[in-house]
Amino acid sequence: MRHVIIGTSAAGLAAAEMVRRLAPGDAVALISDEPHLPYSRPLLTYLLGGEITPEKIWLRPRDYFERFGFEAHLGEPVVQVDPEGRAVHLASGRTVPYDRLLVASGANPRVPEIPGTDLGCVFTLRHLADWRRLEAELPAGGPVVVVGMGAVGLKAADAFRQRGYEVHVLARGAQALSKVLDPTAAGLLHDAVTALGIRVHYHAWPTALKGANGRVAQVVLNDGRELSAAAVLFSVGVEPRVDFLAGAGLAGPDGVPVDRTLRTGHPNIYAAGDCVLPHHLLTGKPAAFHIWPAAVAQGEVAGANMAGAGRVYDGILPMNSISLKTIRIITGGHQYPDGPHGEVFAHLDGRTGHYRRLVMDDGRLVGVTLVGDVAHAGIYFRIMARKLPLRDLPADPRTPDFQPGRLWA
Ligand SMILES: Cc1cc2nc3c(=O)[nH]c(=O)nc-3n(C[C@H](O)[C@H](O)[C@H](O)COP(=O)(O)OP(=O)(O)OC[C@H]3O[C@@H](n4cnc5c(N)ncnc54)[C@H](O)[C@@H]3O)c2cc1C
Repeated sequence: MRHVIIGTSAAGLAAAEMVRRLAPGDAVALISDEPHLPYSRPLLTYLLGGEITPEKIWLRPRDYFERFGFEAHLGEPVVQVDPEGRAVHLASGRTVPYDRLLVASGANPRVPEIPGTDLGCVFTLRHLADWRRLEAELPAGGPVVVVGMGAVGLKAADAFRQRGYEVHVLARGAQALSKVLDPTAAGLLHDAVTALGIRVHYHAWPTALKGANGRVAQVVLNDGRELSAAAVLFSVGVEPRVDFLAGAGLAGPDGVPVDRTLRTGHPNIYAAGDCVLPHHLLTGKPAAFHIWPAAVAQGEVAGANMAGAGRVYDGILPMNSISLKTIRIITGGHQYPDGPHGEVFAHLDGRTGHYRRLVMDDGRLVGVTLVGDVAHAGIYFRIMARKLPLRDLPADPRTPDFQPGRLWA
């Protein structure tokens, strides 16, 4: 059996290693348009802030592909998939045949369609090449404007700040992450972000970028104000990277639809990671959510099924993690109860500033927000993922002095 995997990141590597484990004699080919070894995208902002050195970015050793017996096609963009001919066509003109194919092509950053995004010093941060461009082109003096107040935008803003830049962050809504954080948590986040010296502009989004000498110079805002900018970083979400599937009938606008075995509409083709549209673990409904652990989990299931294991993917449990010097936040599941028997428990510890918010539906935990003390986030996630009735727990989480670490001690 010959397995071909498009993508050498979280999902692609997890799948390849699972195939190797379950079907050691099978041939595995990995394709990436990036020319280098697999690396950690979550560490890119740490690289930008100088918190880690470049050699820490690599996920696997230099001899990884040889050691696992993988055929590697690096620096080779895929331009087309031919499901009937069971072949992947590369931009170089080469064709890679497969018996089973995994699409693990991830996502690309969104950039709004406004004038001026083609100016110099306008950046996104998704690929290692983006970081290299930032290092090469970032001007010595600011200000830097970060568009987007999500986890990645905030971490990037913090990185620019650590490098001494004046930093402005634009948030489209009245608070950061309005679908994820309630106003109390958002308020704590605001205080922590401004304590870093970052200026936040709410209800603000860019309508145009203006330039001078080919480089960005101002960001024109929706209210007509103009912010001076020596560099702009867009961090406004991602879109699945599925352009090369056009014509293959496999992808929709929100990604590649898959069944619970992560098989696409075609029997020999699977998909995993940021490019897919999986189902929500709690609701069973399609849920596009782009996080590293979910990409790994999906890669493992898809890889196992390519090797014939017949595994089922539990579904994605949305999760956000914000980690700045001044605050740590972890959220997961729903922000508000869904049904008529919903309940919210929230407790702000006035002494420590720690905040805990739980969302329940029908006596089960369906959402959690932890601010400050995030040490036991994994326990809350386990309760949610296993859909455990709260009445069966040895202690009730809906009390201010609840100690999750003692639950199963
Ligand atoms: C700056 C940053 C910080 C992040 N921080 C976190 C975090 O703290 N926690 C978290 O959970 N998640 C984080 N994420 C998200 C996380 O990185 C992604 O969810 C994860 O990388 C998805 O993995 P993936 O394998 O699906 O796709 P990707 O990592 O996007 O990899 C896709 C692969 O497919 C290849 N590919 C795509 N198209 C083609 C083509 N046409 N031809 C050939 N090869 C192709 C690419 O080269 C790449 O190898 C962060 C992302 C960024 C950018």
